[in-house]
Amino acid sequence: MDQTRLLALDAAHVWHPYSAIGSGLPVFAVESAEGVRLRLKDGRELIDGMASWWCMIHGYNHPRLNQALADQLGRMAHVMFGGLTHEPAVGLAERLIRLTPEPLQQVFFADSGSVSVEVALKMAIQYWHSRGQPGKQGFLSIRHGYHGDTFAAMSVSDPVNGMHSLFSGVLPQQFFVPAPERPFGQSCNEADMAPMAEALERHAGKIAAVILEPIVQGAGGMRFYSADYLLRLRQLCDRHQVLLIFDEIATGFGRTGKLFALEHAGVCPDILCLGKALTGGYLTLAAVLTRSEISQCISQGQPGLFMHGPTFMANPLACAVANASIDLLLESPWQQRVARIQEGLQQGLAPCAELDGVAEVRVLGGIGVVEMKQAVNMRRIQPAFVEAGVWVRPFGKLVYLMPPLVMDEADLAQLTAAVCRVVADYLG
Ligand SMILES: *Cc1c(COP(=O)(O)O)cnc(C)c1O
Repeated sequence: MDQTRLLALDAAHVWHPYSAIGSGLPVFAVESAEGVRLRLKDGRELIDGMASWWCMIHGYNHPRLNQALADQLGRMAHVMFGGLTHEPAVGLAERLIRLTPEPLQQVFFADSGSVSVEVALKMAIQYWHSRGQPGKQGFLSIRHGYHGDTFAAMSVSDPVNGMHSLFSGVLPQQFFVPAPERPFGQSCNEADMAPMAEALERHAGKIAAVILEPIVQGAGGMRFYSADYLLRLRQLCDRHQVLLIFDEIATGFGRTGKLFALEHAGVCPDILCLGKALTGGYLTLAAVLTRSEISQCISQGQPGLFMHGPTFMANPLACAVANASIDLLLESPWQQRVARIQEGLQQGLAPCAELDGVAEVRVLGGIGVVEMKQAVNMRRIQPAFVEAGVWVRPFGKLVYLMPPLVMDEADLAQLTAAVCRVVADYLG
């Protein structure tokens, strides 16, 4: 199909994420992708600054991941998970249990990050139901969070960014406290914890769990906060008999410099959600891990079953490529790579901090953020990035990078230089 026809059909018939039909905002047709580069249909090549929203940690079209998929395809693409099991799923469960804190022992495979959040919330509710406390069905979260686009996931995401007013009639009302103010690297004190402590004090009888993204709040603002907050939160949750759910869908698999962000705090949650980079970006898959105490309690209570079971649960192709992705990551010098990317982002984005329209530049692991003072005009800035040979997709005030972890220094330098140039031009 020629490019003009493709883009015309796309504009007429196809929704994109958070998009309007007929907006006239540009979309770019991709022909193929390899390593850290996207090749557009018009022949241009772009260095990828987004890793396709946290996912593509090994880069595109990776021979090892391609092979893992081809091998599994030759055996079976899919089989129902009710009453059946297979090596890709069991092997993946084994890996995830080995890599995450020891108390997490059971795995539920879901088909996307949002669904895994639904599963985590249901687990928490069923746990308290089984423990004879059916009144604990609410959730407490911090502002600026993002947990996905399905209804329950939306209900625990930031009320403003998450457009709660639009769906107020159908969204369950949850509890929110301000997001932690202490940045990453600083410790917290009692005062920092006061809103959380008070909310738990007052509402613990109605709260099944606290849910948040550890260390990095992603789509809700790209904020990096104190590890100490999580340590103190763990103590508060224990004191008030409230479960703790970590959503590491964005942060998992090396992005923050640790394999999982929870390692920065040394805290084990009761329930952990993983997704995005789980399959190296190849297919949609998520996992919910929990402690034996919770899975046992649910299994011995009423109705004695965990009430969830998607059609494509533990899809063998997705599990096989996840196994290959995890092995590839662990065999690679990923810590050095992330450290080098952190350094490259710090140096490369530093000039942006001098610009008048820029509020702050911050970097953690493989994440670099240029926070502007005003929301950017996508109609202007998006084509400018493409012209500069990079794929960067800002939202709101945030121009941010999370490149594939395999990006070398030269490409990273080119990427950050392009960002500085485009942002400087944009601000005029
Ligand atoms: C992306 C994301 C989700 C939702 O995952 P989907 O696969 O898009 O449904 C949930 N939580 C966090 C922290 C995310 O970054």
